[in-house]
Amino acid sequence: MRRFLSALLTIAICLGISNPARGQTEIQIADPEVTYTFGGMLTIETEINSEVSIQRVLVLLQPAGETENVAAVATFTPPNQVTYSLDLSQNPFPVFTDVYYTFQVELENGETITSEKFKFDYDDDRFPWQSLQTEEFEVYWYEGDTEFGQTILNTAYEGLARLQNQVNVPNPDKVTFYVYASTQDLQSTLQMSGQAAAWIAGHANPAAGVVLVSIPPGPAQSIEIKRQVPHELTHVMLYLKLGEDYDKLPNWLHEGLASTTEVFPNPDYPLLLEKAYEREMLIPIANLCQSFPVDAANFQLAYAESTSFTWYLLGEFGNPGMENLIEAYADGVGCDRGVELALESSLAGLERDWRRLNFNESPLRSSTEGIIPWVIVFVTMLLPTFGLFVGDTIKHRRKNEKLQNAKGD
Ligand SMILES: [Zn+2]
Repeated sequence: MRRFLSALLTIAICLGISNPARGQTEIQIADPEVTYTFGGMLTIETEINSEVSIQRVLVLLQPAGETENVAAVATFTPPNQVTYSLDLSQNPFPVFTDVYYTFQVELENGETITSEKFKFDYDDDRFPWQSLQTEEFEVYWYEGDTEFGQTILNTAYEGLARLQNQVNVPNPDKVTFYVYASTQDLQSTLQMSGQAAAWIAGHANPAAGVVLVSIPPGPAQSIEIKRQVPHELTHVMLYLKLGEDYDKLPNWLHEGLASTTEVFPNPDYPLLLEKAYEREMLIPIANLCQSFPVDAANFQLAYAESTSFTWYLLGEFGNPGMENLIEAYADGVGCDRGVELALESSLAGLERDWRRLNFNESPLRSSTEGIIPWVIVFVTMLLPTFGLFVGDTIKHRRKNEKLQNAKGD
């Protein structure tokens, strides 16, 4: 078991003896003892010995993947006791990540010595986790028997195979799944980690190789497994493929690929799309590049459209086209430019083809929709001329009427 989990975690990692630069005072740091409860209090205790008196000790913490430190002064009790406390409800760390920390020791002679890095795993310790693992995957769950854990593992392999049919991705070294028994449990975990939780049933931390899913017991359980496990796995696998360039992919492609690997896709999507199409409420794909809408109805529609559009691209351009597209985006080009470079078409053009194919849209509707803005521009340009022409005609008519009246008089 990779992570040691208990109600109160105690992790002591490596004895730290600072390697001072030449001429620096040498300090010795005993094995730090880390205790915490998830979302509660974190305490780090150690002993620091120095030839020169210690004035102050700071602790700098940084969760893996984060760029910012949490830094605060520890309590130093002479001759060598150091105690550091942090309220994790006020300073939440992402769940299931490694947290790195160092000690900054300020001495009476004005020297500041920074220790080597220490680390602890920050886990959700509120549940009695059971686990299963293979070379590629590790599964933790707290409700259900071993068969349940095995089903999660099997579905992870099924999802991986589906993804590998669409995109070239390597087999993972280790992806870890945490299976929550309700969306409330999962959402509370995310909230306590300082992460967005609204409408979220599954969550991936791709850089950490961690997936969180919520699979409640009941008749829909196997459907949810087949939907969520491959979906979240795809996000992690795309990170494994792209590394730091992962964030450069447009949102519609991230979610589109994740949804196309679902073994049991969301059955609401086709109806949702059809209704939105009929009401002319489809969201332009270009609007789904950066982020998704935050209101519940459009949030779902954004997923439905991304999925359908990605299926269309896979159907039209196959695996090589998809590889080219991912590569173009990973190079950092924009949403439109990526499509132009990889698929030699415009995003708007592909969107029109997708609508034609998906909604049996007549070429006239899709083509007229494309030219409507131009018609407006054209009419606006002609309006003053048209106005003059109409005005002229009225003037002529009045003039003629006057003449005829004069004749009649
Ligand atoms: Zn997703």
